[in-house]
Amino acid sequence: MKLKIKNVVFSYASTPILKNICMELAPSEVLGIVGPNGSGKSTLIRCIDTIIKPQKGSILLDEREIKKMSRIEIARRMGYVPQASSYVFPATVFDTVLMGRRPHLGWRSSEHDIEKVLGALKLLGIEDFALMNFDEISGGEQQKVFIARALAQEADILLLDEPTSNLDIRHQLEVMEIIKNLVTEKGISVIMAIHDLNLAAKYADRIVMLNGGSIRSAGDPPLVLTTENIKSVYGVKAVVKNESGKLYIIPVGVSAR
Ligand code: ADP
Ligand code: MG
Repeated sequence: MKLKIKNVVFSYASTPILKNICMELAPSEVLGIVGPNGSGKSTLIRCIDTIIKPQKGSILLDEREIKKMSRIEIARRMGYVPQASSYVFPATVFDTVLMGRRPHLGWRSSEHDIEKVLGALKLLGIEDFALMNFDEISGGEQQKVFIARALAQEADILLLDEPTSNLDIRHQLEVMEIIKNLVTEKGISVIMAIHDLNLAAKYADRIVMLNGGSIRSAGDPPLVLTTENIKSVYGVKAVVKNESGKLYIIPVGVSAR
């Protein structure tokens, strides 16, 4: 097991946000985190990346407590892509992606670092924007830049907070395919918070469904994304179709929980 999250409790001031979260991430696994707005998805991802510290519980990376690891050690293992917001970033796209190399850099960037950056830009199809300023490109392109930065970092665990929220449907699928290929080809593992239940069903090997900071359900997508769970967690009536193992979730309307 790559990552083990044991009995994690997190509160902002006295407001409990995560209540006894337990989950595991296996090598080459895509774990989807779903749940309504405010259910704690971003908070959980930020705890895993040690941006914030849980008051209780432990997070183990290859059996080691991450709170005992240095920032640079963590950055070599885990790449974090924050939830999109209006970023103001006074750097070019190239330099932003190059920041992903920081955990590996010596005093200056080497040709190897530059190659990694160009490779990541190409993989995401944003090499033409390399010399533009980060704040001059669209929200969707910015999201791709942050994914490229995490890839350039060469971490073996990616923590993605709604990686497709600003992308149109074609780019959503493209980005998910890129991520899926990295998992298959390079054996990296992914934890991604994702709103779109159909994308979660299509690309996650397992899903954790959060509700009010607790895990409501966890396991294979068909086990978690059921009409009953969607109704009680989101207050939405949905039709769930399982066509030879492929899940399709069709929201029909709001309902009582
Ligand atoms: P999600 O990503 O599932 O939408 P979040 O993890 O962002 O949920 O938020 C969970 C809860 O924590 C929400 O109720 C939110 O208002 C609260 N919260 C998030 N960030 C902060 C903060 N910096 N200070 C206080 N409360 C916060
Ligand atoms: Mg969030």
